Parts: sequence; structure tokens; C-alpha cells
Amino acid sequence: MNDTPSQAGVSLRTVLVTGGSRGLGASVVADLVARGLNVGFTYLNSQAQAEELVASLGSDKVLALRADACDPHAIEQAVKHCVGHFGSLEGLVNNAGITQDRSALAMSTQQWQAVIGGNLDSAFHACKAVLPLFMEQGHGAVVNMASVSGLIGVPGQANYCASKAGLIGMTRSMAVEFASRGVRFNAVAPGFIDTDMTRKLSERRVAQVVDRIPMRRFGTPQEVAKVVAFLLSDDAAYVTGQVMVVDGGLVT
Ligand code: NAP
Repeated sequence: MNDTPSQAGVSLRTVLVTGGSRGLGASVVADLVARGLNVGFTYLNSQAQAEELVASLGSDKVLALRADACDPHAIEQAVKHCVGHFGSLEGLVNNAGITQDRSALAMSTQQWQAVIGGNLDSAFHACKAVLPLFMEQGHGAVVNMASVSGLIGVPGQANYCASKAGLIGMTRSMAVEFASRGVRFNAVAPGFIDTDMTRKLSERRVAQVVDRIPMRRFGTPQEVAKVVAFLLSDDAAYVTGQVMVVDGGLVT
């Protein structure tokens, strides 16, 4: 048997992260830059935070790009810009995401579509934007930021749960479709992580949730970023189509 996997030794130089201005995305950006990689990241509304992140990393290895993840043309341009700036691209992290929680009975069509569009359609557009390059070079790794909400039911999150379950399905489908072309697709499913997204929860809800987490705490963005970095890296060269849950034991 040939013991030289096709991807082994292919080094990851440049990664594009969607939604890198705050929260988990910002931690992923910082972690990858600290590992010596070039990182392009997109943002939509938080320009000041995006600029602060670039300044705090004090590195020419990071590039902030304003691009609405829901706009296929904008993400295509961001990919082109990133490749033009750094001269390479081997990794994509589809992290941009939103919540608009509401009982399904009261949820408007607009709220349904905004969350499916922001979390699922956006990842589809970005995958399509990088795939021609990844296939041409014969290697590439995509990590999709799913959620435990894609694995279990959560009241008030019909739109969010559907978007993340869809993202997991898309990850598995693309993984088997493009494995022979050297492109890997994996998903990370965080539980409750301390970011702006979970800071919207009431104190009562936080206490209820913490009570259900076997580790009795929310995770940190850095704990998720390390798992993303692993899945992008050659250490995960034989890992594709998987969902890595990072939740302190919540859905075990
Ligand atoms: P967050 O703190 O609310 O940050 C969201 C990020 O996504 C921001 O950088 C935001 O950029 C960006 N974004 C949103 N819509 C965008 C769009 N249309 N185009 C470009 N950027 C966009 O959220 P987070 O907690 O870090 O969550 C990040 C990802 O992890 C999401 O996919 C979320 O579903 C997932 N997740 C989070 C948790 C958690 O507990 N926090 C758990 C499971 C999964 P701007 O501010 O610049 O618009």
C-alpha cells in the first residue's frame, strides 16, 4: 500500500475566513496568524473592529476585506483579492453567521430567509468561489462553522437549526464529491461560546444552559479556533466529511 497520502506535505499558506471582525472569527484569524499563515478575513458592519484586529495583530500577514457573505459576487471578489494579495489560497473558513431567534409560529418569512441566507447560502457561495482554484491546484481545506443547533432541536431556533443542519449536510456532500480532487470539507459544531452572539442571552437562560453543560462553563473562542486550525492543517490530511463537536460535553 502506498503510505504517502496525496495531501501530506502540502503546506497551508493562506486562509480566507468569513466574518472575522468579531467573536469566533476574530479568534480564528488571530490563531492562524500566530501560526505564521497569511489570513484574509471578511466583515460586513464592524469596520472599526476589523481595523482594530488588523492593528492588534501588527502583521502584514492579515488583510481585512469588506464583503457581504450573502452576496456571491462580493465573496468571489474577496477570494480574488486574497489570492492577488498573498499569491496563494489553500484554506477557507465559513464562519459568518447570525441568529434571529423566535418561536416558529411568530417567525416571519424574512427572519427565516435571513438566517438561512446568512448561515447556509453564504457558505455555498464561498465554497463555489474557491472550488475551481482548489481543484486546479489539487488541494484545499474548507471548515464550516456549524453548531450543536445543527444536531439537536432548540426552541425558538427553527431557522438557525435548519441552517446549521443544512451546513452539515452540505459539508458531508461536498466532502464525498471532491475528496478525489484533494479538497477536504469538515464542520465544527460549537456549543455555547462566549461571544456577542451568546451575550444576548438572559442571565436566567445562561444559568440554565451552564447547568446542562457537563464542564459547567461556556467555551472560549480560542478553544474553537484551535480545532479549526487542526482541521485546516495537514495533521487532518485524512479527515473529511466530519463534524467536530466543541461543546464541553453538552450533546454527548
Ligand atoms: P458574532 O460574535 O455575532 O460574530 C459574527 C461575525 O459574523 C461577525 O464578524 C460579523 O461581521 C460576521 N457576519 C455576520 N453576517 C455577515 C455577513 N452577511 N457578511 C460578512 N460577515 C458577516 O458571532 P460568533 O458567536 O462569533 O459566531 C460565529 C459563527 O459561529 C457563526 O456562524 C455562529 O453561528 C457560530 N456559532 C457560534 C456559537 C456561539 O456560542 N457563539 C455557537 C455555535 C456556532 P460584522 O459584525 O462585521 O457584520
